Parts: sequence; C-alpha cells; structure tokens
Amino acid sequence: MRKPFIAGNWKMNMTPSEGRAFAAELDKALKHTPVRIAVAPPFITIPAVVEVLKHSSIQVASQNMADHESGAYTGEVSPAMLKDAGVSVVILGHSERRSLYGETDAVVNAKLHLALKHEFDVILCVGETLEERESGKLEEVLKRQIVEGLKGVNGHAMSAITVAYEPVWAIGTGKTATPQDANDAHAFIRTVVEGLYGKSVAESLIIQYGGSVKPSNVSDLMAMEHIDGALVGGASLTLEQFVPIVTFDAR
Ligand code: PEP
Repeated sequence: MRKPFIAGNWKMNMTPSEGRAFAAELDKALKHTPVRIAVAPPFITIPAVVEVLKHSSIQVASQNMADHESGAYTGEVSPAMLKDAGVSVVILGHSERRSLYGETDAVVNAKLHLALKHEFDVILCVGETLEERESGKLEEVLKRQIVEGLKGVNGHAMSAITVAYEPVWAIGTGKTATPQDANDAHAFIRTVVEGLYGKSVAESLIIQYGGSVKPSNVSDLMAMEHIDGALVGGASLTLEQFVPIVTFDAR
C-alpha cells in the first residue's frame, strides 16, 4: 500500500513573512490529514516556514540544492545548509531547472547522490516536452531521465526517493495530462524502475503526477492505479486550492 504524497512547489513566490503566515494557515487547515504533505518554499523563506512547521507533520522541502558540498559556488545552497535549516526533502531535476538553468541528467544525478549522503528524501522530477511527446519519444526520454538520474543508486536507497512525472507541456499551462495518459507514463516509469531494482522496489515507489493539478482534477488523477501523489505548483499557493487538493476524495 503506497501512502499518498502531495507536495507544493512554491517556486519563486512567498517572501519570508508571506511564507510564515501561509504555512501557519496551512498547518491549521491540514491537521490530521492522512496524506504525506510537503511544501517547498524559496531558499530564503525556508527558515520562517520551518519555524512555523516545527511541530507539524507537514515537511519542508527545498526546490533545488547545490551539486557540491561547499566552497566557491556563488549563489548556491549546500546540503549541510539545508539540513541545518530543517529541510527534510529536496526536489531535484525540476523541468524549470533543466530548461532554464541547463541542469543535465548528470548534474541531477550528482545532486541526488549528495542528497542521499546527507539523508534527505528526494523528489526526482522527470517529464517530456510537447515536441518529444509528439515525435514519439516519451518513453525514451523518461527512461533516460530515470536511468541517468538514478545511476549508481542502490536499491536500499530507493525508499528515500519519490519520482515526480511532470510533462513539461502541462506545467503552469492549465493543460493537464488525462488521467489515463498520466497513468500510462507512471506505469512505464514503474517498469523502468523494476528493470533496475526489481519488483518490490518498483511496487513501493511513490510516483507523483505534476502539471496543472487543481481541486477539480485531483480526484480523477489520484484514482488511477499508478498515481500516488501530486507535485503542485500554482495551486499550492492558496489555501482555497491547496487544501482541497490535499484532502482529495479518495475513491
Ligand atoms: C510544478 O512546478 O512542479 C508544477 C507542476 O506546476 P503547476 O502545478 O503550476 O503546473
């Protein structure tokens, strides 16, 4: 039985004061929810949110992490800094990091190894562009991102890893993959993971869907066999939308 995991990626939104106030409201609204929940504030907002959520079951995630331990990497934030600040989950390989900041599978893989070394849970994001989907490359792209992203990771470490399937064309566009299309992609990801680590790792892997998840589509998505959670961008920024997503109607 896979426990649903819903994470909100705040992207470059929420100042420390806004994040503090919002996290307090969220905590109040989501007490006793049977779903695993995380929020990923911008780096500078993390300490304020950790302070508010320190006694909450809502976890604090980071949206990114450096690919080095420390040193002359201007503008980067190290694993030790995130650990010390109270972060427990790191999101790696988000499509905006890949497309806007040139993160390759190799960089994502280096970050993932560092994150595991520092005992973070990881959300590894994968997903195809519209062009890749339309040219029949969906499976090739997903397989490459999974195999390269997880290179050198052993099966025991897989319990710390969640995969987020986020078709790039559905992120922030209002277009959602149909539940069937998303489920097919998730099933394929599970098959790739089974090829790497065997059936039991693949069956316990949590695979989130991301891409314009909203209160109106979350239940249909979550009803699918291989969809175990959601990575939510825009709709994670208001209580009106994020609360009903987290408390979706389980069918
Ligand atoms: C995301 O950024 O991970 C995301 C899925 O964004 P949105 O929900 O806004 O499409």
